[in-house]
Amino acid sequence: MARLSQARLASLNKSFEDRTPEELFRWARETFGDRLAAISAMQQSGSVVCHMISRLKLDIPVVFVDTGVMFQETLDTRDRLAKEYGLKIITLQPKLTMQEQTEQMGVLYLDVEGQKRCCHMRKVEPMAAIRGKYDALIGSLRRSDGGKRGECPVLAVDPEMNALRINPLAMMEDEPLHNYIAEHKVIVNPLHSQGFSTIGCNRCTTPVLPTEPKRAGRWRHLGPWSMYCGINPTDLDDATSQAIDLPQDLVDRILGQKTDFMI
Ligand code: SF4
Repeated sequence: MARLSQARLASLNKSFEDRTPEELFRWARETFGDRLAAISAMQQSGSVVCHMISRLKLDIPVVFVDTGVMFQETLDTRDRLAKEYGLKIITLQPKLTMQEQTEQMGVLYLDVEGQKRCCHMRKVEPMAAIRGKYDALIGSLRRSDGGKRGECPVLAVDPEMNALRINPLAMMEDEPLHNYIAEHKVIVNPLHSQGFSTIGCNRCTTPVLPTEPKRAGRWRHLGPWSMYCGINPTDLDDATSQAIDLPQDLVDRILGQKTDFMI
């Protein structure tokens, strides 16, 4: 095994800055083969990821974490994407139902520390079911979403999953995203047209005013102290000091030291 740190990805990340999402999807498929999956929360950028996988015929499975308290519109969007785009969508769930969790631990999402525990149990821990199965996970983070995502790299290490996170849409701004959705009539979560700029659990997500930041509707009841759930490693404060362990041969391929596939 070889250590792959965030720092070792710096020059590759720089060279990926002018690549299109489609080129990055193809690089990911060629580099990781069947050890590659995508993650989608069934928000609009996740729908674009699903559409590109289908349009480019990449046959990449899509992982969805159902916390048990998702909006029905989100579940319906997942089912439509699977059926109409011919995708394999893997749904992961937490060990406890929200009812069981509440009976055992109380209503966690009503204070900041409880929210972290709740998000960890209901969003991060379910991902353990696929830990070790994939060397890379495609996400849908975009810098245009602002906050901690304002500088998210295309490639980021994810120590929790021991996998590389790939964000092919990182450089896609709002207007190109909306143009892509309109041009291809992409299936999107209907809550976006009802005032929700981002969409998570029904307990912790509200619509936002046009004058508010995009993430103002997430954990609104907790104030500005809760902004992220912890499922994306680049949302964490210490992300740049992290590293993962992958087979030497694969690290060579990622870093372009084996040149059987380059873009
Ligand atoms: S978003 Fe709210 S309900 Fe969902 S896992 Fe996090 S704290 Fe729990």
